[in-house]
Amino acid sequence: MKLVFATHNDHKLKEVQQLLPKSIALLSLKDIKCFDEIPETGATLEENAKIKADYVTKTYGLDCFSDDTGLLVDALNGQPGVYSARYAGEQKSAKDNMAKLLTELKGANNRSAYFKTVVHLNLQGESYTFEGVVEGEITINAHGNGGFGYDPIFKPNGFDKTFGELPADTKNAISHRGRAIQKLVGFLKKKAS
Ligand code: IMP
Repeated sequence: MKLVFATHNDHKLKEVQQLLPKSIALLSLKDIKCFDEIPETGATLEENAKIKADYVTKTYGLDCFSDDTGLLVDALNGQPGVYSARYAGEQKSAKDNMAKLLTELKGANNRSAYFKTVVHLNLQGESYTFEGVVEGEITINAHGNGGFGYDPIFKPNGFDKTFGELPADTKNAISHRGRAIQKLVGFLKKKAS
């Protein structure tokens, strides 16, 4: 089965590839020669995931899935949420985003937060969505330099290390995206059988 993952992020592509069975040939946007910056104009993670998958399916006529993720911080009423990538501005800098979040949470007692991923799949004329969540807390300072985005300041519940310090396979097993993709993979396996 050939499936496009609508992302320009090589790091994410690698993470997802590790979770998929070999029978599913994953194609990146680069592989299908799509170099467009697909506009993420939705007001929710669900809308943005759908916009990206629909763009590829309509433009290229290919089955496709896309994901959209947000970091939702309780003390900030769910911010940055859908705006996580550009929290500190259009330059989409992970360093600036983390610095802004740590400043916003200075002195906060409640540092609870969760990552949420929504996957939208277009397959043979039908569409499906899958969700994954991981709960944790925002640390006082950054720790580790693995992963990407907010990983160095997010400590998942049940661990004493941040995503920036944990090995990639540990993160994949429990992460928001890992969980959403595991649901997607389970669904695709059933479809293929
Ligand atoms: P996207 O929808 O996957 O592009 O995610 C939006 C933003 O959320 C990214 O630019 C990152 O700032 C953040 N993000 C998404 N996934 C992760 C992750 O696994 N770790 C840390 N930050 C993430």
